[in-house]
Amino acid sequence: MKKIISLFLAFVIAFSMISLTASATVKTECNGDCDTCPAIVVPGIGQSNVWALDDEGNYLLDDNGERISCFPAIFDVGSIVMKVLAPALLTLITQHDIFLSDALCDVVLDAFEVNLCDESGKNTGNIEVEKYLYSVAECSDYEKEQIYDNIPLQAFAEMAGEDHLYYFAYNSFGNNSEIVDELYDYIQMVKEETGHDKVNIVPISMGGSVANGLLEYYPEVVNDLNKVVYIVPALNGSSIVGDLYTKNLAFFDTEFLYNGFLEALMDEEDARMIEVIARILPDEVLSSVLRNVANCLVEDVAANITMLWGLCPKEDYPAASAALLASKPKIKEQTDKFYKAQLNSNKNIQNLVDNGVQVFNIVDYDVPLYLIGNSWNNDNADGVIHLSSTAMGVKSAIVGETLGEDYQQANTYCSNPDHNHISPDNVVDASTGLLPDHTFYFDGQNHEQTARNDAIISLATELLSTNDIKDVYSTPDYPQFNGRRDPRKLRNDLIPAAKAVDTSSLSQADAEELKAAIDEAEAFVNNTACYDGQQKEIEDRLINILVKVGAWTIEEEEEPSTFFTDLSLWLFDNYGANGYSEMPFLTVNIIINTVISFIDDYVLAPIFSIF
Ligand SMILES: [Zn+2]
Ligand SMILES: [Zn+2]
Repeated sequence: MKKIISLFLAFVIAFSMISLTASATVKTECNGDCDTCPAIVVPGIGQSNVWALDDEGNYLLDDNGERISCFPAIFDVGSIVMKVLAPALLTLITQHDIFLSDALCDVVLDAFEVNLCDESGKNTGNIEVEKYLYSVAECSDYEKEQIYDNIPLQAFAEMAGEDHLYYFAYNSFGNNSEIVDELYDYIQMVKEETGHDKVNIVPISMGGSVANGLLEYYPEVVNDLNKVVYIVPALNGSSIVGDLYTKNLAFFDTEFLYNGFLEALMDEEDARMIEVIARILPDEVLSSVLRNVANCLVEDVAANITMLWGLCPKEDYPAASAALLASKPKIKEQTDKFYKAQLNSNKNIQNLVDNGVQVFNIVDYDVPLYLIGNSWNNDNADGVIHLSSTAMGVKSAIVGETLGEDYQQANTYCSNPDHNHISPDNVVDASTGLLPDHTFYFDGQNHEQTARNDAIISLATELLSTNDIKDVYSTPDYPQFNGRRDPRKLRNDLIPAAKAVDTSSLSQADAEELKAAIDEAEAFVNNTACYDGQQKEIEDRLINILVKVGAWTIEEEEEPSTFFTDLSLWLFDNYGANGYSEMPFLTVNIIINTVISFIDDYVLAPIFSIF
């Protein structure tokens, strides 16, 4: 018996030794001995898959058999109609809020159920975060597709090897400090697996906020880092989220709600149609319903999500946390801790630089923020994040304005008198942001299209795979101020169409113009420096000559209907924000008849004409 036990023990020890050595095995071809540090992408909000599970832990599936994503919420139209129908009818008939707010709050809580967090900021949803605890080399084809779709770093993977690329997936609505801890552990894992003693990290958008936590809670990480390449990082949150937490929301103003708010978010005619329909409720009722729903979203959902607090700007945090977290001490303890990380963001980044870590920053500007909160136009922006957040405190003019003719470069962070850090459009003074010599600006580039800007991706690739680019002066290919671009249409459609033209039948002038337009287009596609608007000029030139020689047709756009736009504006001019029940009976009669005849002429008539 003793023998068997000792044999068994020996077996267990031997086996555990094997598994220990196995886990410590370096998996890279270079064995850690190459010039390229492994890169870890820390993606942005919604760039990690989070799936809903049933009670047995199996994936919930939709009608098409597809897994159900938890981001940003799960809307079940059937149950929404069931919950809202009766209160909506009662509210319509009585023209008072009869349980409509309550029903809509229920809908919000239902939709966000998978993303709810408890009073200690822990996610309570039945969910699974799709994580890649290995390099891209070990990812399945499906996993690679997910990763490259979010950030097309294939060229980097080709140069450095897919065993040098990692993607740190996390729940955008999860727990902030847990995710920071996971990132620190992930960095240690990557070092072990690759054999490299340092890594490069690429914090994108919300990933910038996670990086704030990393640098504050794990100062020793400075020894693990070779480079940090920030891409549109939310280093001081987004003022949209600040406005959400401080309930400084633009649509609380009913005048704006009926004229301006929706137009900024969707197609004007659709927006105007919603405005016309919304008047079936008196403005006080509609506005109180909206307020109640927003309260519910902020107080019952957003207030408990510490990752979302990571996007609250430091200027808004004290007031927002005092109002929302007074009775939630366990959450406040965590968000207070993060607030400190945010306050120290520039200091901690400077500390990296002082310790030899190379830090680069790539940002977009001159795109107005989505008009959701009232702070939307307080700063320049990229559509989603205000510029002083992404560009480490930089000063700039708001979208559509300039710094002024007499403006003098402030040189807050640059002491080299030869450096000109004012953007060519006189909008940004890059010398006022931390790291002026290492921050690249893309004019007119929209936040959400950042990964489609091939110059941004190739710049990131260069920074991660070589040491050729030291700063914004290293090469004219990547100047400090660059422009928006997405040359897919040129590359895939226009240039091939132009090259396929049989030039022998063209006049000499047309043949010359076609060749010049192709040359210009190819030069643009093959280069990385441009100005905002250049791509459009080049596309238009190529399209013009292609149309002239009959090799391209511009699809005639139908004159869009302006029915609801005209009606909504007429209502607004004559009755302000009032609902129909607050208007004279005659007016309502006229409106109903107009709408019916519109539907008759433009909807029913075409349908019946088919038969
Ligand atoms: Zn290597
Ligand atoms: Zn400088």
